[in-house]
Amino acid sequence: MEKICVAVRVRPPAPELSQENGSSLWKVEDNRISLHKSLDTPITTASYAFDHVFDESSTNASVYELLTKDIIHAAVEGFNGTAFAYGQTSSGKTFTMTGSETDPGIIRRSVRDVFERIHMISDREFLIRVSYMEIYNEEINDLLAVENQRLQIHEHLERGVFVAGLKEEIVGDAEQILKLIDSGEVNRHFGETNMNVHSSRSHTIFRMVIESRGKDNSSSDAIRVSVLNLVDLAGSERIAKTGAGGVRLQEGKYINKSLMILGNVINKLSDSAKLRAHIPYRDSKLTRILQPALGGNAKTCIICTIAPEEHHIEESKGTLQFASRAKRITNCAQVNEILTDAALLKRQKLEIEELRMKLQGSHAEVLEQEILKLSNQMLKYELECERLKTQLEEGRRKQKEQENCIKEQQMKIENLNNLVTNSDFKMNQSEDFIISRKTPDGLCNINDISDVTGTPCFKSASRSFVVARSNNYSGLSDFSPMVHSLGDVADEDTWMKLNKGFVADLDQIQFTPAVKCQPTPLSIATTACPRENYIEVEDLKSQIELLTNDKDSLQVKFNEQVLLSNKLMQEMSELKQETLTMKEIPNRLSESVANCKDVYKDVIGTMKSLIADKESPTANLLLGTTEITTSLLSTLETQFSMIMDGQKTGSSIDHPFYDQWETLRVSLKNTTTSLLSDAQAKDEFLNCHNKGKETAALEEKKLKSELSIIKERYNKLEKELCLDKQLLEASRESHEKLLIEVQFLKEERDSLDRKISQSTQRLRVIASDKENALKDLNVEVKRRKDMEEEIKHISIAFATRHKSFVSFHSEIKSKMQKLTTQNSKAP
Ligand code: ADP
Ligand code: MG
Repeated sequence: MEKICVAVRVRPPAPELSQENGSSLWKVEDNRISLHKSLDTPITTASYAFDHVFDESSTNASVYELLTKDIIHAAVEGFNGTAFAYGQTSSGKTFTMTGSETDPGIIRRSVRDVFERIHMISDREFLIRVSYMEIYNEEINDLLAVENQRLQIHEHLERGVFVAGLKEEIVGDAEQILKLIDSGEVNRHFGETNMNVHSSRSHTIFRMVIESRGKDNSSSDAIRVSVLNLVDLAGSERIAKTGAGGVRLQEGKYINKSLMILGNVINKLSDSAKLRAHIPYRDSKLTRILQPALGGNAKTCIICTIAPEEHHIEESKGTLQFASRAKRITNCAQVNEILTDAALLKRQKLEIEELRMKLQGSHAEVLEQEILKLSNQMLKYELECERLKTQLEEGRRKQKEQENCIKEQQMKIENLNNLVTNSDFKMNQSEDFIISRKTPDGLCNINDISDVTGTPCFKSASRSFVVARSNNYSGLSDFSPMVHSLGDVADEDTWMKLNKGFVADLDQIQFTPAVKCQPTPLSIATTACPRENYIEVEDLKSQIELLTNDKDSLQVKFNEQVLLSNKLMQEMSELKQETLTMKEIPNRLSESVANCKDVYKDVIGTMKSLIADKESPTANLLLGTTEITTSLLSTLETQFSMIMDGQKTGSSIDHPFYDQWETLRVSLKNTTTSLLSDAQAKDEFLNCHNKGKETAALEEKKLKSELSIIKERYNKLEKELCLDKQLLEASRESHEKLLIEVQFLKEERDSLDRKISQSTQRLRVIASDKENALKDLNVEVKRRKDMEEEIKHISIAFATRHKSFVSFHSEIKSKMQKLTTQNSKAP
């Protein structure tokens, strides 16, 4: 925003008046002008300050230098510029704008300066067009083409306000313009008034349109177009003073009206922005044309001219007030750049190329490639997850197997335990039997035994059971004397009661060889020894036999136990082996997780390098994914390390099976002890076996605790795997979205390509049309120039003829007068 530059110029007093009044009433000091009384007393109320005040002695050169030069230079740079002279008739407006032979005015100086300036600017090329018009009686006439009368004002979005049909002459140098101005001056309306012999009866606007562009013809350099208006207004006048009548009066009315509207516009513009209402630019053609210069996009200067004579004081005061208001107006000038079709075409081409580069070029392909890469990596990651899952499944399966194995072993151990208990019973039974046999009062009465069903009689019960179950019942009956007597109690319920609920695998139980109870040979007893001795011997014999049998059966049982124990040991070692394998699983899983982590790091690194915009949704998604996956992998690692640490420290967990194991151990020990009492040779072996059992029990316990820890870890892992799967799902979804986006981009690119080719074709057609039009225009311009030359010649010839005609006419007139005088003198 800048203020309008306002200056006041006082013309020298008219020669005839200056002789009358010795000194001027207007005193000029620096940029201040004040009115003084005749006796040099200043009138305080009439003192004005402006940007410049030029006194009577000032020249057009100084006015141009101080006031308008900057605006002209700015016009060459691309700013709109306006300079106009305002003042009463005969105050020196035309003198300031047009000047004289010796002191050219602002218009001529501007024209010369523009070209000088252009020559100084080497990097740009210029095109100057000029037009010259007058507003006479509120009608616009073309001063460069007399046939262009009553032109209309139009408004265009890009060109702004313009006069339609106004001739614009393209000019190459200052002289050409000056000649045009001269020819235009001929067409201007002048008139003689009381105040000015050669009074301007119209406002004239000399307009230069300065176009320029960079010589390097770079597409980015737009064309600058500036308009320079140099205006010589018609002077306001008092009808009484001018003594106008008829045509002059009519002219004066129009002049005054348009100047009044100019004053109104200035008044409104000088009001503060808040008070500004509608600016009446449209009320007159002058204000309409000068609209950009008044509060618009232009650098403007106003030269207000005043006449120093005393009888013009009122008009001068009015002029100074007008100037004061104009000083308050602010304009907003800026360089006017427009894009030519060619420049536009080039610029668009560049943009198209850029777009093509973006879409067709490496970018889309790279993106596609990267997406492909990412898909592959994602697949890899998925496979890795799948592998981990399989490993986990395998681990779980093995764990189940181990559990089953342990169950089986438990069952076997229980069986063993029962068998051991059974052995105990047999041992007791043997003892009871011996005791009962040794009772002093009793004979070996088999029927007595049947009475002890209420109290445990293991031997008979056992036998009854065995017999009842045995397939060889009929065969064995011959050897066992107790079978018949125990037939009633040989049922399973009794056996169950006796064995405290234990159900043995009957197929594995072998029948103890029955003692052969042969009838006592009575003949021997009566002949060889007394009856008592005989009975005793017999008794002892049978006892020995029974013992032998028992011993044999125990031997069999023992053998069975040894076999079972061996089998157990073998299974234990297998279990150990499996446990070792199980221990390796976390290790392997840990390695897999580490691998996964490495792969994942690579993937994330690549993805990060691909994303240019760190704030984009993809970057955020990636960041989120990275965080989640890193935490997941870290958790997995921690879990595995915990599992491994747990293995190393061998953390023990209380187990419910411990007691059972302990019982088994004690039971085994007891059995062994009882066996040792019967057979010393087996003592050592049984001891060893017992120890083996203890160790096995401990190891089993350890294994159990470790297994439970592993089970816990697996559960956790399973949960994490679930999370992992969800994450994978999310990644897959985003990947699918990306693919859709790529597809969409491709489609968009294709449609854009089509549009681009269409617009390129259209632009080509327009460019060729424009070239043709330009050629036509040049032809037309040349034709017009030729015609103008012809008209000029004709005009000159006409003027010469007119002169000669006038002189001839005056000659004839004088001759006629002479003749008339002679005739009148003649009698
Ligand atoms: P306007 O255009 O304002 O009606 P003109 O420019 O025609 O007035 O001036 C009227 C007369 O005064 C002209 O004869 C002109 O030569 C003369 N004149 C005006 N200003 C000056 C000046 N500064 N120095 C010398 N003569 C001047
Ligand atoms: Mg004039």
